[in-house]
Amino acid sequence: MEIAERQSRDLGRTVRAMWEKVPFYRSRMEDMGVSPEDIKSGEDLHKLPFMTKSDLRDAYPMGILACGTDDVVRIHASSGTTGKPTVVPYTKNDIRTWEECMENCLRTAGVTRGDVFQVILGYGLFTGALGFHYGAERLGAMVIPTGGGFTGRQLMLMEDLGTTVFTSTPSYALHLCEEVRKNGLRKKLRLRLAILGGEAWTEKMRDRIESELGVVAVDSYGLSEVIGPGVAMECPERAGLHPDWEHFIFEIVDPETGRVLPEGEEGELVITSLTKEAMPVIRYRTRDLTRLIPGTCSCGRKGLRLERIKGRCDDMLIIRGVNVFPSQVEAVLGGIEGLSLHYKIEVFQPDGLKELKVLCEAEGWMDELKREEKEKETARKLHENLGIRVGFTLLPPEALERSAGKAVRVTRVA
Ligand SMILES: [Zn+2]
Repeated sequence: MEIAERQSRDLGRTVRAMWEKVPFYRSRMEDMGVSPEDIKSGEDLHKLPFMTKSDLRDAYPMGILACGTDDVVRIHASSGTTGKPTVVPYTKNDIRTWEECMENCLRTAGVTRGDVFQVILGYGLFTGALGFHYGAERLGAMVIPTGGGFTGRQLMLMEDLGTTVFTSTPSYALHLCEEVRKNGLRKKLRLRLAILGGEAWTEKMRDRIESELGVVAVDSYGLSEVIGPGVAMECPERAGLHPDWEHFIFEIVDPETGRVLPEGEEGELVITSLTKEAMPVIRYRTRDLTRLIPGTCSCGRKGLRLERIKGRCDDMLIIRGVNVFPSQVEAVLGGIEGLSLHYKIEVFQPDGLKELKVLCEAEGWMDELKREEKEKETARKLHENLGIRVGFTLLPPEALERSAGKAVRVTRVA
């Protein structure tokens, strides 16, 4: 069966299940005057209403369930940064689907059954660790479930068990670089591949991680609300992520109006699941900004690729009318010699107007004169690249707190 044909069949089934089992979505479809019969193929997708993060939150704990409660075999939840978490139920088939998506993604990244795979992500309600864990096992790799944190133990096991691949957040990988350097471990490790995701990162960050650890670092994308990791993965060509078109449909829409954008344009990523049973998502607004890249990848895989996520719509700061993403700040910092990529952005409002201050650690010790020069150079480059003046302070090495998961980049100072 052709992929388009299968997509149409699976989309029809998903829409029908939501119509029958999820009242809020049915009434939204009715409001738009659309019924399951109107959805004959992926072409009809735009007729359907969106789902948002707040829909999922409002449905707490189990309002979006398109199967019987008895069919649910596992629960995950996405971090509840604002109040209650979003609960994500899985049926047996969903777990199998997820493992399959994950295995495919790991193959895309270049993982083989001969690899020793260390999972440096939090186990538990969070989907990250278990997704990679079961995907890597299914592929036949040797899995080391170290979980997050305890860097000393991570490195010890990496060395003693001969870890070849690890997965973590990019900011934790950067922290590993630091510890590997400090302890002179580079030559003792067998690492060849790092699979990084869970937060927006830049090419500069990739360059540092690759050169310091001697690995190829690929970008991984997924989100708990949709299934977990396993939605899209970069191949070693590192030219955009290969999305899983078997299980999902991807659209790019204007984040303000919701209008579907032409191929290649940047906007908000919207995902529809095709095979999920317990909690399908239809036109789920991810708030992640990216675009779809046309053309065939040098690895030979066909089909649109997903560009590295630029940031979340919600991460965008508007400073004196100018849009600023943390990833733009990171790209500037990464281009300046002597600066580490351990940084933080402070937003404050001295007299009603928002101002930005960037703080970044130096890579090594600098005398006063050198430090002042570096601060001036960085402030100038930030101004040139962002289009606004921002404050900049160079910190001594290791002045900022290290995080075992996602780094907190932006803080609001009263
Ligand atoms: Zn490729």
